[in-house]
Amino acid sequence: MESGSDCLFCRIVAGEIPATVVRETDTTLAFRDINPQAPVHVLVIPKEHHADVVTLAQANPALAGEVLGTAAAVAESEGLRADGFRLIFNTGPYGGQEVFHAHAHVLGGEPLGPMRAR
Ligand code: AMP
Ligand code: ZN
Repeated sequence: MESGSDCLFCRIVAGEIPATVVRETDTTLAFRDINPQAPVHVLVIPKEHHADVVTLAQANPALAGEVLGTAAAVAESEGLRADGFRLIFNTGPYGGQEVFHAHAHVLGGEPLGPMRAR
């Protein structure tokens, strides 16, 4: 399993790669996506390495809940609560996952359109 110095998001947790952190807890980190797809685009990760959300939820369901709690707190602090937002876990090849350290995308700040482009 890719982790530690091989994993981009583990390196962000370790402070080896800079990120614009918007929220941090003992177990989670939220930072702005480097290539934002909406006016607000924040990634929420567990500090512990898990390859995807399924692995995370199976190995450590409490931590999965903490990721969700941090995502909710980010949605509130970024002002997305009233108009709404989208929370996405891209998973595996069909899901378009590119970084294999579990992460939630918090997207908002404008109407996001249909869930899928077809
Ligand atoms: P996914 O396709 O769900 O795996 O999403 C990976 C996300 O990580 C993409 O939206 C990238 O723009 C984002 N990303 C890649 N490198 C960085 C970085 N160094 N800092 C912040 N976000 C990044
Ligand atoms: Zn990692």
